[in-house]
Amino acid sequence: MQENVVRCKKCLLRETDQEKVYEDLKRYIRQIPEDERTGEEAYQERLARCKECDQLLAGMCRICGCYVELRAAVRVRSCPMVHPRW
Ligand code: SF4
Repeated sequence: MQENVVRCKKCLLRETDQEKVYEDLKRYIRQIPEDERTGEEAYQERLARCKECDQLLAGMCRICGCYVELRAAVRVRSCPMVHPRW
């Protein structure tokens, strides 16, 4: 088994270790190929817009259900709102 692959362990959020989830998320983001990853300045701008959005809840977008730090890291992704914020 590859060590750097994140595998679903079929757990509920209440059963998760939030620090571990965040570490896994960061590891997953680092695995995004450079040419598919959002540039740092644009990434921070995307996250700043999420921070101001009332759809952000505990790191997740309530519209798409994604962790915004992951969604924003993929260059071709966009905010799922009808009038996208980024
Ligand atoms: S992705 Fe868009 S809708 Fe979701 S939290 Fe961020 S700004 Fe809000």
